[in-house]
Parts: sequence; C-alpha cells; structure tokens
Amino acid sequence: MNVTTSISSMQTASASVMAEVFAKQQQLAVKLRTSTADERIAKLRRLEAAVMASKDAIYRALAADLHKPATEADLDEIMPVIGEIHHAVKHLKSWMRIKRARTTMTMLGTQARIHSQPRGVCLIISPWNFPINLTFGPLASAIAAGNTVIIKPSELTPSCSALMAEIIRQTFEPAEITVFEGDAAVSTALLALPFDHMFFTGSPAVGKIVMAAAARHLSSVTLELGGKSPVIVDESADLAKAAKSIMWGKFLNNGQTCVAPDYLYIHEKILPAFLEKAKAAIAKMYGDNAQTSPDYCRIVNDRHFVRVKNILDDATANGATVVMGGVTLASDKFIAPTLLTNVKLDSAVMQEEIFGPVLPIVTYSDISEPITHINANPKPLALYVYSKNQTNIDKIINETSSGGVGINVSVLHFSHENLPFGGVNNSGIGSSHGEYGFKAFSHERAVMRDQYNSTPMLYPPYTPRVKWLMGMTLKFFS
Ligand code: NAD
Repeated sequence: MNVTTSISSMQTASASVMAEVFAKQQQLAVKLRTSTADERIAKLRRLEAAVMASKDAIYRALAADLHKPATEADLDEIMPVIGEIHHAVKHLKSWMRIKRARTTMTMLGTQARIHSQPRGVCLIISPWNFPINLTFGPLASAIAAGNTVIIKPSELTPSCSALMAEIIRQTFEPAEITVFEGDAAVSTALLALPFDHMFFTGSPAVGKIVMAAAARHLSSVTLELGGKSPVIVDESADLAKAAKSIMWGKFLNNGQTCVAPDYLYIHEKILPAFLEKAKAAIAKMYGDNAQTSPDYCRIVNDRHFVRVKNILDDATANGATVVMGGVTLASDKFIAPTLLTNVKLDSAVMQEEIFGPVLPIVTYSDISEPITHINANPKPLALYVYSKNQTNIDKIINETSSGGVGINVSVLHFSHENLPFGGVNNSGIGSSHGEYGFKAFSHERAVMRDQYNSTPMLYPPYTPRVKWLMGMTLKFFS
C-alpha cells in the first residue's frame, strides 16, 4: 500500500464514523424538537459543571497552546462561556415562548404565532485563538436551542482540542454532542454531510469554503469571520484613557483576537502625545521587556510567527518607523508589542489582517480621510472610535459599516450578552451571543390559523362580490 492509499483509506474510515454519528444525531434531533426548557437547562448546567471541574486542565491546555496566563484564561475563555450559559439558563423560557404575531388588516380573521424550533443537527467549526470560548460559547447557544451538535475544533491548539473532546465525551452521549478533532481534511469530510446548520468561526477565506459546502445542501450558516478592525482617535479624545484601552485590546492574546484593533488612524496634531501615552500603557501592562512578563502571550505556532514577522519586515522595508518594540525571537514565538508610524497604505500591514502584536498608526488631518479609507476596504468586524465629539462619533457611525462599534472602548462589546455579535459581508454573516445565538441555532417557524373560515371569500370564481372586496381593500391601502 502506498502513502496516498493509506491516507485516503484513513480518511474514508473517519468519514464513515462521522456519517454514523451524524445519522444517530439526526434521529435524536427529531426527538429534541419537543425538548423542554428544563431539559435543555439541565444540559447547560452539565456543560457548566464539566467546564468548572476542568478549570485547571483548561489553564494547562491554554498555557501549552498559547502561553496564556490563567487570569486571562478566566477573563476571555472561561468567563464568557459561563456567562453565555447563565444568560441562556435565565432567559431560555422566555426565548422559547411561542410569540404572537399581530394580525394585520388583510389577515383579519386569522391568528398567527412564531415557534422557535431547533434547527436539527448542527456543525460548529472553531478557530484556535480563543479555543475554549469560541467552541463552548456557540455550543451553549446550540444546546439552548435544542439541537444535536458535531464540533470540529482547531488543530492549531491541540491541547485545548483534546481537552474539549474529553470533556464532551465524559458529559454527553455521542448521539447528542460529539467532537471530531483534526485539520482541514476532517472539516472537509464533515462539510460533505447535510447539516441543518453550520456555525463557522475563522478566516474569511475558509468562510467562503464553508458557505460553498453549505450551498450544496442548502444548510443555513452563521459565519463569524475576521478582517481588519480600524480605530479612529480624534483631537477631542481622552488620550490617556484611549491609549490604555487600545493597547489592552491590541495586545491581549498577543493581538490574535478577531476584534483586536488592527490599525489606528489618529489626528496628526495629537500623534506625539498619544505615542507617549501608548508607550507608557504598554510598559505598565508588560514591563520594559514583555518577554519576561508572565502576562504576555505568544504567537500560536511557527507558521503564524513567520507570517506576522514578514508583515513587520515588509512594513519597515517600506519605510515604516518602529516607535516601540520590533523585537522578534523565533525560538520563543515572541514578538514584542510593536507600534509603527509612517506606514504605507499599500504595505501588507495595512492590507492583510495582522492577527499579531503589531499596531500600524496612520495620521489624518480631516475626519473624512479614515472614513474614505474604511469604506474603500472590506467591511470590518469591529470599528473603534475614541472621541468626545458627538458630531464626529455620529458621522463615523452613520457613514461607515462594520459588524459592531466600540466608542471609547475596545473588544469588550464582544462580551455584552444583550448585543448581537457578528460581522457584515467579509467579516461575517449572522450573529451570535445570548438571544441572537439562540436564534442562530433556531428556525423561526411561522404558524397561521384561520379562525373564522374567512379566506374562502377570496377564492375563484372572481364574482362581482370578490372584485368589490379586492377593490375596497386596495382603496383602503392607497
Ligand atoms: P481558519 O479559517 O484558518 O480556521 C478555522 C477552522 O477552520 C479551523 O478549525 C480549521 O481546522 C478549519 N479549516 C481550515 N482550513 C479549512 C478548509 N480548507 N476547509 C474547511 N475547514 C478548514 O481560522 P483560524 O486561523 O483558526 O482563526 C483566525 C481567523 O478567525 C481570523 O481571521 C480571525 O479574525 C477569525 N476569527 C473570527 C472570530 C469571530 O468571532 N468573528 C473569532 C475568532 C477568530
């Protein structure tokens, strides 16, 4: 047997296991259509208990995969999952309640209701950058909505993926929730199955592959993608506050955050003052040498280290000034918190999603410049404005488009359970979190009942009476 045959037979074997699990999940999904809020809440509680019981193992896995400090693991991995579960537990009964749709003039004599039904068998494909949060967060929404779920976590954070697979194995039956670990080949095999819904978090490039696969079955999709999230700091901003907030959002998780400030537009008059505050904010968080800080993460793997270093090298080769940082160390996958000025708009650092601890800073003299730049590029996932000038804030919000907006705050809108989280076009389709996550995994089913047998009034033959009725109705509306 040559290598090709052995790889392909390995894939066939796992594909058949996937198909078997999928078929079992399809059977259970039909039963789960009638699951009660209490039954779903019990499952959410089981997931919560399993996560909390595995806290130490989660810290170890995140440290191994991302050099993530335990406090940051609490903040941006465990807490969002527990928050999502608690929020769903608290509101599930109201989310599941059958909603009344008001009768309209033309529908007099009928009654209408909206039933939230589970979509069925759902696929969750998750990325590596917040591996626990971005896998178990959507899972909580999928459970709340009453689905069965197959999960494919990222191969780039293998300790976290193995741990999540173990947690799920010990907590749920495979017919209900199963994890398939592996790389793009495993994703590809899963994407061939006719899932009722596909929930993907990752890059726009792979998002397109997922959407094309979904199209083959007309599976519905939620695509949580990425891109370049801009920041605008105007002359009125509280610079100390802005610098702390932007530096925190940028260097959290080593810049490997979908809603991290990617690049910054600042009014030319305040650049020098802002740079001083930004340098001070970085030094306060990570000391003079971030490599020795226990609170500073690392780039996830060698490939991404080289990718970010190439972006940095390309920027400096094109004349960018390193204001702070710029130090890289391949053996430690370390890139210092880096601030760049004098960057060229056509260099890679201003063209590609950076996804690393490098912040290019561009100056403007008129607020229309960053707005024009943002509108000339794909719609971002997040857009941040630091300003006290309400006219500028309104102008930026009204004249641009993005998944979400932070005003004098970065990243934290992700964790607001009452806000929809998602992108627009290149940064995503659909939204998640809280009730929006519940809706992503539910089908809103329209149910109409004729109460008084009034609809036959409009059936043929179109007698003068029917014509008069239609004429009166049209007159009423015109
Ligand atoms: P990625 O798209 O490379 O991978 C995501 C998942 O897709 C992984 O599980 C991977 O195994 C799988 N995959 C990779 N190639 C595939 C293929 N050809 N076919 C099918 N599946 C495939 O993304 P990533 O590198 O893990 O994550 C970084 C990206 O995700 C960034 O663009 C970031 O902005 C985005 N992101 C978005 C959000 C959000 O909530 N919107 C959150 C985190 C990350």
